[in-house]
Amino acid sequence: MKNNILTFSDHSRHFKDCIYVYPVVSRRSQGVSLGINLNINNACNWRCVYCQVEGLVRGKPERIDLSRLKFELDIMLDWIVNGKFIQEYAPVGLQRFNDICLSGNGESTLSEDFVAVCQIIAELRKKYAVGSDVKTVLISNGSEILKESVQQGLTIISENNGELWFKIDRANHDAINLVNQVSIDLNGVIKRLKLASSLCTTYVQSCWFRVDEIEPAAELAAEFVDLMVQLKPYIAGVLLYSTARNPALPEGNNISQVSPEFLANLADQIARSGIIVKNYV
Ligand code: SF4
Repeated sequence: MKNNILTFSDHSRHFKDCIYVYPVVSRRSQGVSLGINLNINNACNWRCVYCQVEGLVRGKPERIDLSRLKFELDIMLDWIVNGKFIQEYAPVGLQRFNDICLSGNGESTLSEDFVAVCQIIAELRKKYAVGSDVKTVLISNGSEILKESVQQGLTIISENNGELWFKIDRANHDAINLVNQVSIDLNGVIKRLKLASSLCTTYVQSCWFRVDEIEPAAELAAEFVDLMVQLKPYIAGVLLYSTARNPALPEGNNISQVSPEFLANLADQIARSGIIVKNYV
């Protein structure tokens, strides 16, 4: 069975014959995360320079084959909860089921079937009596939160031991434009985060990296710390990370991991305000 062991670098979206559902062992979860990819056409409305999606295109996902997705999630949950999936595929020390995670090759909430997918997750969590130690996580750039259907999905996620990881990489318009390659207003980001946090436990997730081997400027970090302090009443914490693998986009050719010291220092500055911060390079 050794060849089957999942590793941190094995984030294939094509486990066995599944199209939408993929299990991974991730550094962040310290266990098995059952991912759901709604963007099988690799389409996203943003184009973050650190994005790890090969062949990323601007756009939105196609309609989801809901019966297929439900079938895949059903067999994987059965295998994990009632079978020996974890013992056979997860490395020793990481043999635990951590979460069901909506995280695809693009922004999940762009899908017209987002609510239906959230309902399927809720239904199957119930069918397999998935416990409170297993989260339902939505990783999102937060751009679609003003849509009523996305709010409805977020409410279902929240009712199912859910968390939203809301991407905020930088705290000023120009820096966001450079990192996420999208022109958005910071006040709009703040408004959407506040709304999201009223519906579901919300963490800010933020990616930091070197450009041409140079660590991010101190002003960028200071602006980000100020924004997190401003958002403190609305968030459960801040998750800091760096690029784990080589970015897939040509725009990311000159970026690389920040030092653990940079991330630890940024985490310290935020934590001084009493905000829970996790960081992993
Ligand atoms: S939001 Fe996510 S999927 Fe979209 S470009 Fe950024 S990192 Fe890639």
